Amino acid sequence: MDVRNCKKCGKLFNYNGESLCQSCVKEMEDKFFEVRDYIYKNPTANMAVVAEENDVPIQQIKKWVRQERLTFSKDSGISIDCESCGKPILTGRYCKDCKGKMTNTFSSVYVEKPAENKPNKTSSKGKMRFLGN
Ligand SMILES: [Zn+2]
Ligand SMILES: [Zn+2]
Repeated sequence: MDVRNCKKCGKLFNYNGESLCQSCVKEMEDKFFEVRDYIYKNPTANMAVVAEENDVPIQQIKKWVRQERLTFSKDSGISIDCESCGKPILTGRYCKDCKGKMTNTFSSVYVEKPAENKPNKTSSKGKMRFLGN
C-alpha cells in the first residue's frame, strides 16, 4: 500500500494516482463547478482573476482546460499552448491543425509513383545463325 501526504491538506491517504486525498479531490470537484459557473458568468475574466476569485491554483485551471472540461470564451483572451506546435488554443491539448495532422498520420495511405523504366533499348542480339548441313 502506498500512503502519502495530501499535497493540499497534508493528511495521510492511500495513494491512488492523485496527489490529493479523497476529501480534497471532492473539494476540487466542487471548485470545478464553482469555476465553471464563474467563467460562465464572467466570460471576459482572465485566468489570474478566475484563480484568485475562486481560490484555485492557475495550474489546476489549466489542467481542467487540458482535460477539455473547461472552455474559455475567445473574449476572455485566455489561451493555453498547443502541446505540439505552441499555438494558442482555447481548450484541449492540441490545436486543430495538429489534431488534423495526427489523424492524417494514422489514416493516410502512401501512394508511391512507380518508377518509370520502360525498356527503351532494342536488343541488337537478334540474329540467329543457321547451321547448314
Ligand atoms: Zn487533502
Ligand atoms: Zn498545434
